[in-house]
Amino acid sequence: MSEPLLEVRNLKKYFPVQHGMFSSGKGFVHAVDGVSLTVEKGETFGLVGESGCGKSSLSRVILGLVKRDSGDILYKGQDVRTLSRSERAKLRMVFQNPFASLNPKERVFDIIAEPYRIAGGFSHTQIQEEVLKLMDLVGLSRGYATRYPHEFSGGQRQRIGIARALAMNPEFIVCDEPVSALDVSIQAQILNLLRDIQKELGLTYVFISHNLGVVKYISDRIAVMYLGKIIEVSEAKDLYASPAHPYTQALLSAIPGAVEYLHIDRVLLQGDIPSPVNPPAGCRFCTRCPYAQERCATVEPEMRQVGEGHYAACHLVGKEAE
Ligand code: SF4
Repeated sequence: MSEPLLEVRNLKKYFPVQHGMFSSGKGFVHAVDGVSLTVEKGETFGLVGESGCGKSSLSRVILGLVKRDSGDILYKGQDVRTLSRSERAKLRMVFQNPFASLNPKERVFDIIAEPYRIAGGFSHTQIQEEVLKLMDLVGLSRGYATRYPHEFSGGQRQRIGIARALAMNPEFIVCDEPVSALDVSIQAQILNLLRDIQKELGLTYVFISHNLGVVKYISDRIAVMYLGKIIEVSEAKDLYASPAHPYTQALLSAIPGAVEYLHIDRVLLQGDIPSPVNPPAGCRFCTRCPYAQERCATVEPEMRQVGEGHYAACHLVGKEAE
């Protein structure tokens, strides 16, 4: 098997709790708590979970936008901290909110041109050629180059954001909920655009979403996160055909019609998601799991293989449970 493009080993990031008027005592939000994963060149690796599960924090730590506490992040086998500036420019991000992520005072041309200007060494003519090529690629009329972000719809703004992320020929792009702020009718257009661009440029994506339908549509493999940990990872089709972890089963069975369509049992989640400041000992999911046993509250389950390329962290699944 070839070396993965990205390898993350036992990554941890805790954020200190912000003290509000009624908070007391110190603590840390366990945003990313021992995450390991690999992303192969050319694939789309989906990352799914409820809001606050740590998926966006994980992506920001991977891209170096937030400093890690511990763990390894290797890009083509090299620690990302030791990558040169030009190598780092190969790792980019498409942000969630196309309304907030674009500078309202800059014209489209300048927004897309910014990475070239920061990198330096490009003439105005070269930058102009690159920006116009990128506008063509994402389906924006060249005539829009002198307009400002407020003159565009949400879908068009996300196209501008994608064009900016494609500047400087990246190889690896984290798409952080890139369609969640858009109308449903526009979402498919942006997902198809991302897929077409991936094929054309040979890109690798990490695609983050809380929406299982969106993740299924675009991903080759999917990891499910819960309270700072990955609890299941699999080929996309296997995850939906035979979810192994009770949390994944609960997420899938909550999709309208999924119980009949996917032939899975309805799994009802109990209670609320626990605080990431004080996550449960043992299995993180034990306070909400309908199948929890005594040991689940004290012994943390390891990732076990449940099928080819399919792993889940639950005491009840995998080889040792047979
Ligand atoms: S380890 Fe126990 S609590 Fe956790 S998902 Fe499995 S059965 Fe449920």
